[in-house]
Amino acid sequence: MAAPLSTAAAASWLSDSASSPPRVRLLIGGEFVESRADEHVDVTNPATQEVVSRIPLTTADEFRAAVDAARTAFPGWRNTPVTTRQRIMLKYQELIRANMDKLAENITTEQGKTLKDAWGDVFRGLEVVEHACGMGTLQMGEYVSNVSNGIDTFSIREPLGVCAGICPFNFPAMIPLWMFPIAVTCGNTFVLKPSEKDPGAAMMLAELAMEAGLPKGVLNIVHGTHDVVNNICDDEDIKAVSFVGSNIAGMHIYSRASAKGKRVQSNMGAKNHAIILPDADRDATLNALIAAGFGAAGQRCMALSTAVFVGGSEPWEDELVKRASSLVVNSGMASDADLGPVISKQAKERICKLVQSGADNGARVLLDGRDIVVPNFENGNFVGPTLLADVKSEMECYKEEIFGPVLLLMKAESLDDAIQIVNRNKYGNGASIFTTSGVSARKFQTDIEAGQVGINVPIPVPLPFFSFTGSKASFAGDLNFYGKAGVQFFTQIKTITQQWKESPAQRISLSMPTSQ
Ligand code: NAD
Repeated sequence: MAAPLSTAAAASWLSDSASSPPRVRLLIGGEFVESRADEHVDVTNPATQEVVSRIPLTTADEFRAAVDAARTAFPGWRNTPVTTRQRIMLKYQELIRANMDKLAENITTEQGKTLKDAWGDVFRGLEVVEHACGMGTLQMGEYVSNVSNGIDTFSIREPLGVCAGICPFNFPAMIPLWMFPIAVTCGNTFVLKPSEKDPGAAMMLAELAMEAGLPKGVLNIVHGTHDVVNNICDDEDIKAVSFVGSNIAGMHIYSRASAKGKRVQSNMGAKNHAIILPDADRDATLNALIAAGFGAAGQRCMALSTAVFVGGSEPWEDELVKRASSLVVNSGMASDADLGPVISKQAKERICKLVQSGADNGARVLLDGRDIVVPNFENGNFVGPTLLADVKSEMECYKEEIFGPVLLLMKAESLDDAIQIVNRNKYGNGASIFTTSGVSARKFQTDIEAGQVGINVPIPVPLPFFSFTGSKASFAGDLNFYGKAGVQFFTQIKTITQQWKESPAQRISLSMPTSQ
């Protein structure tokens, strides 16, 4: 096992001047460099409001330098044997493992989630790196011998060139790791833009990737918001854009980058439903709803935010309130914390407004976490677990993604009605059913319109040998993240037909070649 990074080495992505707060550097051509930008965005600890660092709004020249570094590194990197690229990933996964605690601590400081949950954030990304270690097999082409007399055809999957990734705040480690390890192990070079809200984990991961042996220029990092994103969409040298985040940003990026001829995979917002049948295992289902509704303060794209009870929610309400009330809301650093703060004051305001609009329109507030005060963290953006019952499809709180610790309870007469409710919602990221009936589960699996489907599983995020999918407004593009589709996204097919004959045809033939 490799020794963890020393403190001095760990800080190379931060400015070493006495500036307070420290400035996050760019990664260009293998060097962590100070930006010359005049404008910055503060990175704020959501539990305390302390400004922990500051990201620069990368200038146009710096962005150009990052793309140029990636373009220059591409020819050498694509011709590096896949076994060498795999070995770098093997070393990389070892280094990530050795630095899990440091990464998790950074995530809790910048993003707010509990340390245990932050550890899971890193671990789910680590699994993608492990998967990339088998790229030789994953990237394998196909071969048909003797498609015609003396002629064979084969296809190979080649890297695209410079690819880019644009990340959201909610999984500061996992989502960058969904993107660049697959891209670079396929032979591409990469420009990553972490979330401006919590860039630290991506920077630490980049530092470890360099330490693992990723050559200079293969991975580059730029910071910023709309302008740098638009530069990525418009740049002639960038061939593919991987995006995860909200629908407003995702659809903008999808259309702008596609219009420039790039391939785009865009994972977006969610409203994930659980359907609970009367025959479900009561205790296990209650625990699953609480964990998936309130874990990570509801800021997971796979959070279960709506529970549809077939036959009515009343028998479950008291127990849901009891279990949700028992959760500890605290700074993510506290060992007893079940959920930490939400990312910003604006996010808290938005969550509270949507809860209020539900209440104003007839939803019953069974548990209200809006006024929670956490001792010693009075300035934190905390929202306690909140339960709204009698929610209807036309309510704003149902139509919009809340992205906070709020679980909506709805009723349906039958499984068919419940499936219709889910399918009418604009989002289609994930959906789960809780039942002991295989027949009902199979009907649900067939009829439901969602990317990730859970059967007695609340957060069915697939392991990297499958793909993370999404349907309706939750995904734009056609090749999903990781798994076989992820490798296809970051490669293009070349089909080669070769002829080797003792005595090739001597006559000129102008007719369309056909198989002989
Ligand atoms: P966001 O869209 O605000 O930000 C994501 C990225 O896009 C950031 O890097 C940001 O700088 C950039 N950005 C934001 N607005 C932009 C604009 N108008 N133009 C150009 N760039 C812009 O998302 P967020 O708040 O960081 O993340 C939360 C969202 O991400 C939720 O909607 C959640 O459901 C979604 N999400 C989806 C998945 C998934 O796999 N489907 C996974 C995680 C998060």
